[in-house]
Amino acid sequence: MRKKLEDYRGIVPDEVLADLHRRVGRLYDKHVVHVNSTSQGGGVAELLYSIVPLMNDVGLYAGWRVLPGSNDFFSVTKKFHNGMQGENVHFTDRKMRLYTETNENFAAYTHIHKHDAVVIHDPQPLPVIAYYRKRQPWIWRCHIDISSPDPVLWDYLKGFVLRYDLMVVSHPSYVREDLPVEQRVINPAIDPLNEKNDHLSDETVHKYMQKFGVPLDKPLITQVSRFDKWKDPLGVLDVFERVREEVDCRLVLCGNAATDDPEGAGVFEEVSQRAARFVESGDVILLTQASDIAVNALQRVSSVVMQKSTREGFGLTVSEALWKGTPVVASAVGGIPLQVIDGKCGYLVQPGEVDECARKVTAILKDREMAEEMGRYGKEHVRENFLVTRLLGHWLSLFDELIGG
Ligand code: UDP
Repeated sequence: MRKKLEDYRGIVPDEVLADLHRRVGRLYDKHVVHVNSTSQGGGVAELLYSIVPLMNDVGLYAGWRVLPGSNDFFSVTKKFHNGMQGENVHFTDRKMRLYTETNENFAAYTHIHKHDAVVIHDPQPLPVIAYYRKRQPWIWRCHIDISSPDPVLWDYLKGFVLRYDLMVVSHPSYVREDLPVEQRVINPAIDPLNEKNDHLSDETVHKYMQKFGVPLDKPLITQVSRFDKWKDPLGVLDVFERVREEVDCRLVLCGNAATDDPEGAGVFEEVSQRAARFVESGDVILLTQASDIAVNALQRVSSVVMQKSTREGFGLTVSEALWKGTPVVASAVGGIPLQVIDGKCGYLVQPGEVDECARKVTAILKDREMAEEMGRYGKEHVRENFLVTRLLGHWLSLFDELIGG
């Protein structure tokens, strides 16, 4: 079903909806286009599925193009992703050539000359700007934590960023002082009406848990994340081992694959080996094919959701869980502390603190009254700050500034 702004009545106040319609005033009939590198898996695709139809509903012509790439290309861009998040990367002329050539080819058959504004998401399609005759504002929407990138890599990528009119990041600490390009902070958001987040009856929740082989006889701890080292699935296993010394529970690691992340299979393999004996006993469940509705059910039925990332641009999974009234224990990195208010809707811990993390998870498992109170707080926190209607407002304001004249 095509989404319309009016569908959000009752979820956000009428004033918010009226304000969004008002804000679009100078943007009627403007053409904007978003470009990213995957339609499947990961937070960026998740966001675009929600925000692009809504932009069209309020009166813009908003398009979405996906940059296709070979496995080699995505291996290079995943290395760049890792390097931007702080890992030392070794990059060669061959890698840079593959990176720029893929973008050059994409530009040759992707005609975006007539758009009034162009939004490029993340590093994969970043260089594409170099292959167009630029005649409109270009925005680079960087979703990753770039507060301490590999310096050589950053210097190389910065060469492309300098061509942009504006950079948008997810957290104030990602604003770069060494970049003479205007920068803004916009928080990502979740869509309360997509299958991932829409209300589900208890009956549906149980049906999907049965379908995906998740028994509900013990409390569940869950992490929903691509199998990516930055999400620290091995750390989650360590925490689980400690928690189950105190409380009998199960762990679900639910992870899909993103077409632009070729490292997933290797990380999954490592996790499977480490978790083998628990998987055999049924105490750890690894899900790789969960549908959106199954993820929704899982986030609802879990007693605690974890997000044990060592780096996290924003972490949509955190808001997704909070929206469902589930407390979240997560690392205090990147955009997570914006979402988890420590002690109010879950707990924040440092990424390396396995024991402390286990203590916090255990505390929530043992005190169901506190967990319910946290759940109520988290839902309202997300309603106020991290729903897609708010994100739409930010984009409309930005477009109005850039192309509303
Ligand atoms: N996701 C999913 N199935 C999975 C694992 C993740 O649908 O098995 C979704 C998750 O619900 C969220 C997105 O993928 O909507 C991940 O976004 P996030 O910002 O948390 O992390 P990213 O993958 O972009 O680093």
